[in-house]
Amino acid sequence: MSGYDADVIVVGAGFTGLSAADALVLAGLDVLVLEARDRVGGRVEAMAFADGVAIDTGGQFICDEMPNVMALTRRFGLRLAETPLEGAFLVQPQSFAGTGSSFAESGRIRARANRIDPRDPSIAGLTAGEWLARQNDPPGAKASYQAMVEGLWCRSVGEIPLWYLIDNDRRTISNGNELQYFAEGSIHAAAEALAATLGQRLRLGTPVLRITRADGSVSVTTGAGEVLTARQVIIAVPPVVASRIVHEPDLPKPLAGALAAWKSGTVIKVLVRYERPFWHDRGLSGMVMWRDTLGLFACDVSSAHATALVVFAGGPLAAEWSAKGRTFIEAEIRRRLVEALGEAAADVTGLLIRNWVGDLWSGGGYSDVITDLQAYGAEDILRAGAPAGPLCLFGTGVVLSRLYRRRNHRRP
Ligand SMILES: Cc1cc2nc3c(=O)[nH]c(=O)nc-3n(C[C@H](O)[C@H](O)[C@H](O)COP(=O)(O)OP(=O)(O)OC[C@H]3O[C@@H](n4cnc5c(N)ncnc54)[C@H](O)[C@@H]3O)c2cc1C
Repeated sequence: MSGYDADVIVVGAGFTGLSAADALVLAGLDVLVLEARDRVGGRVEAMAFADGVAIDTGGQFICDEMPNVMALTRRFGLRLAETPLEGAFLVQPQSFAGTGSSFAESGRIRARANRIDPRDPSIAGLTAGEWLARQNDPPGAKASYQAMVEGLWCRSVGEIPLWYLIDNDRRTISNGNELQYFAEGSIHAAAEALAATLGQRLRLGTPVLRITRADGSVSVTTGAGEVLTARQVIIAVPPVVASRIVHEPDLPKPLAGALAAWKSGTVIKVLVRYERPFWHDRGLSGMVMWRDTLGLFACDVSSAHATALVVFAGGPLAAEWSAKGRTFIEAEIRRRLVEALGEAAADVTGLLIRNWVGDLWSGGGYSDVITDLQAYGAEDILRAGAPAGPLCLFGTGVVLSRLYRRRNHRRP
């Protein structure tokens, strides 16, 4: 390895970067992971309530269709809870219930969209919102579809190309329950456990600002001005933040364009603790979908550790609430839970708010979304840079290692 600081430098210690590093270390390579924040996990993070109970304030739900993450939970002995789903699902305000605003109605619109070829010229340049406006469905069904898209993608339907939604759905739609499990402590514990295996080969508080490709090596310049060299660099950060890294020489135009085609989602996650799951007394599941406020959704995440609801505000709603501040957000969540679940919902024993809107090192959540209506090949270009193998656990990081791969060098 002479002359290099590492065989491979991995930029970013989210699940993508940590897993890449883990695989490379197993392959016998010397790896250095550089992470901008003072913690690992990226968009998976945990916060503690006043009584010390930790909970995931970023990524939380996992399912059997995520074999790599499931393998990590087994490897590090994390206990999984099944997401409690028994009981009635509430549409709020209840005047919206039974007015064609159910999941089934939005699912029908989604299925109709998905029958269109993403490259069909009739939808070229159309946003999901523009396409939706042309459909003949009842307003409640359209609102339901819009709520689903904005809740999942955390951007306005007026920004997301329809072809992107269709293409993405065709490739990734799940037949299972994506809310199947969560870790009883936190899934963030798996990131910490992976990080522990790296020891000194992980540096926190070390943002990479510049990457310089020269003959036979790649060097990165950190925020402190340190220059580190390696045979290869893996960028395991979301496209929006990846596109802020300066490259010398410039990235090839198609690659730079593919990185610039994305916007980050806007999402606020609120965790609300209670003494007991009082909603079961009324036969409710704790799951609530608001229809008067698109992008607002609540779900039960109670486990043996704690009784809690999680509330997500996603898309334009999150951007609006973020501008109004934490006091507003807390009051709004409390008021709406009481309206939906009854007076007992006022007896909150703990409340955490994690605002991911404009997050410095991830851009936001849950992930980035292509908003360039013409950027058909952007995702394929980025994926083509990914090494083979199951390295992208949550699949939203960008791994560009192939760009830096050099002939005649030892490679993973
Ligand atoms: C509120 C919220 C809820 C979510 N819920 C779920 C869920 O229930 N289930 C699910 O599967 N997914 C969920 N997700 C998505 C999931 O968390 C992400 O898809 C996943 O964590 C992405 O991992 P990653 O490693 O690719 O990217 P990230 O987690 O974004 O990691 C990238 C890392 O790179 C670092 N970094 C960025 N720029 C630099 C730089 N220049 N130099 C050095 N380091 C840098 C960042 O600090 C970060 O640590 C959620 C996300 C959010 C925000």
